[in-house]
Amino acid sequence: MQGEGPVGIEGGVAVEAASRRPLFAASADELRAWVAASGHKPYRVKQIQQWALHRRARSFADMSDVPLDLRKKLDAEWTLFATELAYRGVADDGTDKLLLRCRDGRNIECVLMGEPGGTRRTVCISTQVGCGMGCVFCASGLKGVERNLTSAEIFDQVLQAQNLLPPGESVSHIVVMGMGESLANLDALLVALDRVCSPADGLGMSQRRVTISTVGLPEKIRKLAAQDRQYHLAVSLHAPTEALRDELVPVNEKIGLAAVLEAADDYFRITGRQVTYEYVLLGGVNDRREHARALGKLLKGRKSHVNLIPYNPVAGLPFRRPEPEDVRRFVADVESYGVSLTIRRTKGRSIDAACGQLRRRFEDRARDETEPVAIGGPS
Ligand code: SAH
Repeated sequence: MQGEGPVGIEGGVAVEAASRRPLFAASADELRAWVAASGHKPYRVKQIQQWALHRRARSFADMSDVPLDLRKKLDAEWTLFATELAYRGVADDGTDKLLLRCRDGRNIECVLMGEPGGTRRTVCISTQVGCGMGCVFCASGLKGVERNLTSAEIFDQVLQAQNLLPPGESVSHIVVMGMGESLANLDALLVALDRVCSPADGLGMSQRRVTISTVGLPEKIRKLAAQDRQYHLAVSLHAPTEALRDELVPVNEKIGLAAVLEAADDYFRITGRQVTYEYVLLGGVNDRREHARALGKLLKGRKSHVNLIPYNPVAGLPFRRPEPEDVRRFVADVESYGVSLTIRRTKGRSIDAACGQLRRRFEDRARDETEPVAIGGPS
């Protein structure tokens, strides 16, 4: 449908008209009503969704078994995607880092990861532009939060990533660990994840394969627990004592460690799902023996699991990766309390895959240089 319809498609990229809504900003019911009002049979909705969700249509023009007049109408009133792929960086380990441009020109990041030779395909998605939590080691929060993402923008990240996979492959897991505080945008996140997990109107992913990571907002954790969903919760702890957590995760000053742990315990009690605690290991800061022992004591007896994340250095921030022997000692010390633990492998370092790093580099470069940064450009 090149050039067809009042808006048109140029080079596969939709030329935006402010009035066109992203298809997945509408609920499936809304879309059904719209198709009916357009004078078409209900089964057309299924066809459109199939193309968009599973048959990797790049435009409404691709939907070859949908009647031409319906395709034209779709193109006049809707956009297939809520974002546009602005940049794709592929790392040596196969990690794909995507920068998606929203309709207001803001950039969001998502990362597609795959185990070499494995069947797991995980997408790490963002929930906000920037972040308001201000964790001192993280690139996402350096300039605060600009806005929440819409549910369509959150869903789009999964769809755009899936569309880049080889034919026949689909995303198997989602981690909500990109930019932003996931639970600060809980309502939009829930709508997006409902669509991801809907067998009839979405991608049909199992809720148990979705992990939501949070800095630890107690009321929102309880709200999430009350949703009757099976999402896995990961809480970013990063410190075993009040004083150190206040330093590293400034929102802790208002919340307090005990309130975070109580909310996480409630999440387990209500959902039956074991909580993961994330702990970024910052060399010389929170990786000492006393920290490991305090962490072991804090979590001993709790039905929980610790995910250790060796720090991914951020330019301009005064933190470094821990020494390998310190990591080994830390693991042994925590395990001696009967607490289970895994070390997260760092993925995509060559493409700035840590939260907020790519957007930062991309935007700094775009400001400093006039040359456009192309899709599939150098990482
Ligand atoms: N706001 C949410 C989710 C986004 S961050 C949260 O706080 O959990 C996802 C995880 O990556 C968090 O545990 C965060 O602290 C961690 N992280 C951020 N920057 C990092 C870096 N440079 N290296 C390693 N982990 C980092």
